[in-house]
Amino acid sequence: MGGREMKGKIFEYIEKYGHEELVFCHDKEAGLKAIIAIYDTTLGPAGGGTRRWVYENEWDAIEDAMRLSRSMTYKYAAAGLNLGGVKAVIMVDDYDQKSESMYRSLGRFVNSLNGRFFTGEDVGTDARDLEYMAMETPHVLGIPDPRIGKTECSPKTAFGVFQGMKACAEEVFPDKSLRDKIVAIQGTGNVGQYLIGELLKEGAKLIVTDISVERLKSVLNKYKGIETVGAEEIYSVKCDIFAPCALGAILNDDTIPRLKCKIVAGSANNQLKEERHGDLLHKMGILFAPDYVINAGGAVDDADSFEKGGYNYERAIKKVARIYDNIRKVISIAKREGVPTYKAADVMVEERLERIRKIKRIGKSG
Ligand code: NAD
Repeated sequence: MGGREMKGKIFEYIEKYGHEELVFCHDKEAGLKAIIAIYDTTLGPAGGGTRRWVYENEWDAIEDAMRLSRSMTYKYAAAGLNLGGVKAVIMVDDYDQKSESMYRSLGRFVNSLNGRFFTGEDVGTDARDLEYMAMETPHVLGIPDPRIGKTECSPKTAFGVFQGMKACAEEVFPDKSLRDKIVAIQGTGNVGQYLIGELLKEGAKLIVTDISVERLKSVLNKYKGIETVGAEEIYSVKCDIFAPCALGAILNDDTIPRLKCKIVAGSANNQLKEERHGDLLHKMGILFAPDYVINAGGAVDDADSFEKGGYNYERAIKKVARIYDNIRKVISIAKREGVPTYKAADVMVEERLERIRKIKRIGKSG
C-alpha cells in the first residue's frame, strides 16, 4: 500500500487490509494530531507503541499506522501472546515538537478506548512520554519499574534473538550449537551490545560494526576478543551467522549477493527490503529467522504486565525463551509447505488466528 494512493479511499483500504478500526485524535491546544490503527483483536486487547514522526502528509501517517499495526498483530500472535495489534502515530512538523500536554492528551484518547488499546514506546516516544500518558490512562505498557523488576526491554529482545539463533544453529550446523561459530553483528546499540554478551558466554566468535565510533569503543572496552570491521565490510565478512541489529531493509539486491553466512538472525525490524529478498535468501540456502518472530523478546516482556498479579521477571524471561520454539516451528512449517521462512512465519500466525477465531464462537451470547 502507499500513503498517497489511499487518498479518498480510506474505507477501501481498511477493507482490503482487514483493519478493525482507525481513530483520528485531534487536540489543537495540546498540538496533537494522531492516528490510532487497530488491526486485529481476535486474540485480545490490542498492544502497540506510539510513534512520533514527521510525515510528508497525513496519508503517509495513516499508511504507516496501518502497516505497523498489522506487524504488531503478527508479532504478538507469533509469540503466542493473547494480544491484538495496534499502532498510534503522532504527526509533528519537526522532531523537537513534543510536550507533556501532547502525550497526556493522547493518553486521554487511549483511555477513551476503554482498554481496547494498550500503548508503549516506539520511535520518538520515550519512557518519560509514557509516564505522561500513564497520568491519564492505566493502559500503558513497558514503563521500567525497579520495584517490580521491570527493566528496559532491550536485554530481553537480545535474549530472544539469542534463543532464535540457537534454534537456527540446531537446524544448520552439524554440532547444532553456537560454540566457535563466527557471528557478524551489525549495530552495537541497545540490543546489539546485550546480544554480544549472550554470544560470548556461549563461546561464539564475534565480528562487529557500528557507524558510531563511541558505541564501538564502549563495546570494545566492555568485552575482550572481539574483532571490528567497517560498516560496509560487515556484509561480506566470512561468518556463520549475520545478525542485523541496526536498520531495516538491509537485506536487498545490493547486500544479499555479498553475504557469506549460513544464517541471518538479528533484531532489526523489517530486514527484507522486499518479500522477494526472502525468496532470494531461500534460493541461496541461507536460513533467515523472520524478524518479527525473533525480535519479539521486548514485546513479550512488556506484555507480561497483563498477567494476573502484574509483571514478574522470571516468568517474563521464561516466555521470552520460547522464541527458540517459535523459530523451530517456523522452520518446520517452511519444510512442510516448501516455502521460505518469511512466508512460513505468516502461515504460523494466520493458522493461530484462525484457530482462536473459531474457538471464540463457543459460548458467545446473542
Ligand atoms: P539502537 O539505536 O540502540 O542501536 C542501533 C545501532 O546501530 C546504533 O549504535 C547505530 O549507531 C547503529 N547503526 C545505525 N546504522 C548503522 C549502519 N549502517 N551500520 C552499522 N551500524 C549502524 O537501536 P536498538 O534498540 O539496539 O535496536 C536495534 C534494531 O532492533 C532496530 O532496528 C530496532 O527497531 C530493532 N528492535 C529493537 C528492539 C528493542 O528492544 N530495542 C525490539 C525490537 C526490534
